[in-house]
Amino acid sequence: MSECCGNEKTVLLYACSGASDVGNVSDRVARGLSRDGFGKMTCVAAIGAGLSGFIESAKGATENITIDGCDKYCARLSLERVGVTPKSYVLTEMGLKKGETSVTDQTIRSIRQKIIQTEESVI
Ligand code: SF4
Repeated sequence: MSECCGNEKTVLLYACSGASDVGNVSDRVARGLSRDGFGKMTCVAAIGAGLSGFIESAKGATENITIDGCDKYCARLSLERVGVTPKSYVLTEMGLKKGETSVTDQTIRSIRQKIIQTEESVI
């Protein structure tokens, strides 16, 4: 999805990568999507730190996608604070329970698939 038909699209992926189980899942899902070429994972902490290069990249991207573990929306809010509105996925709104989620390959695959299906349905 990052490139198609000569029209280069830049899709940047940000995981909250929080310490909790759902934060862990967000990180692994984003890494998987990045590996699959669905987009390019980049550092949300750099956005939070105010690093200008990362902020400019976000502003110049075709699409920014945040994957947050829970409804504290840390990744999404980090982008919104610098004036970028991302497409937002929140794992606790996708069926996972914070503090009760097993971080397994199956969980990662299932969430990754849901995101891909949602994105493909809007193309
Ligand atoms: S969104 Fe939730 S899981 Fe992710 S870093 Fe913030 S508080 Fe932690």
